[in-house]
Amino acid sequence: MTSARFLSESGVRMLRGGAFKPRSSPYSFQGLGERGLVYLAQAAEKYGMFSISEVMDSEHLDMVAEHVDVLQIGARNMQNFSLLKKLGSVSNPILLKRGMSATYDDLLHSAEYIVEGGNPHVILCERGIRTFETKTRNTLDITAIPMLKQMTHLPVVVDPSHACGKRELIAPLTLASVASGADGVMIESHPFPDHALSDSEQTISLDAMGALLSEVETLLPHFSKRLF
Ligand code: PEP
Ligand code: MN
Repeated sequence: MTSARFLSESGVRMLRGGAFKPRSSPYSFQGLGERGLVYLAQAAEKYGMFSISEVMDSEHLDMVAEHVDVLQIGARNMQNFSLLKKLGSVSNPILLKRGMSATYDDLLHSAEYIVEGGNPHVILCERGIRTFETKTRNTLDITAIPMLKQMTHLPVVVDPSHACGKRELIAPLTLASVASGADGVMIESHPFPDHALSDSEQTISLDAMGALLSEVETLLPHFSKRLF
């Protein structure tokens, strides 16, 4: 509720919360499940925001689709073709994250599974790819933004949080994404980032989020865009 209030007042239109979390370790916090979706939906509704959350398997698809506006498909599921086919039959827009070793063609083929299945509302998400670099969680592929926009009409959103895994890098990567033509950014924030149960190292404070949004707003007119 604290996040939703602050973010909506700062002009953020969509609230993300992960209720079903694909954690690399089985011992990490796995999310609150359906109860988390109820919290997310309540906060989004109270503050007039759209909501988005991840669907990890087809078993939960209808349930997640009932609670939230937009469905996120995670990097690990980008090539889960049976799940992608089922997404064709829901009306919710789908945020499709690029697999960590997926090429642009791989990503677009996955998007086509959803579109072919009957759901044209696909948003592509660049979230960093696996490279030889070890200082950052992944490597943000800035080239993906203009390239994907040339290859398709689909909107392209960037997730700088999972791309770098470090809160001190979120602002420059966000600005670079906006300058490269991204249609949106998805950023992990928390009222007390050190207490976040998931990915706290890459989570920024609400104050940092507010400051970053102001920077984005100053940058956008250079590209004849505005925050929406
Ligand atoms: C996430 O968005 O919380 C997430 C797990 O990201 P990815 O699927 O890109 O690793
Ligand atoms: Mn995360």
